[in-house]
Amino acid sequence: MENCIFCKIIAGEIPSNKVYEDEDMLVFRDINPQAKVHCLCVPKSHFATLSEMNEQQAEIVKKCLVKIPGIAAELGLSDGYRLIINQGKDAGQTVFHLHIHILGGQDLGEKLV
Ligand code: 5GP
Ligand code: ZN
Repeated sequence: MENCIFCKIIAGEIPSNKVYEDEDMLVFRDINPQAKVHCLCVPKSHFATLSEMNEQQAEIVKKCLVKIPGIAAELGLSDGYRLIINQGKDAGQTVFHLHIHILGGQDLGEKLV
């Protein structure tokens, strides 16, 4: 997808601090971390939001969710972590390529769910 920063990261055109990669997904450190550990799990297939997701892409998101606990363990998040998927303007989504935030490495508190 042209002009999509995450597609460019996936293609290796923009560098990233990679944590995990396979044929379906890339996990890398967020450039502006909101917690001690803040990574983004990005399906390689481009789609902006859950509303645009097709069945095949939903299977990939499922694979992401299956992989994340192991990745979180590798990241040392044994005390827990929070997953966030921002959807659209009210959620403050800034990059319109679906991604799952993985936040942890500290007590995240009980606010905002
Ligand atoms: P959103 O607000 O769309 O849910 O999250 C987008 C996230 O992507 C933000 O947390 C932002 O810091 C991160 N981000 C934006 N551009 C880049 C980049 O070029 N590299 C990395 N590693 N993260 C980025
Ligand atoms: Zn993209």
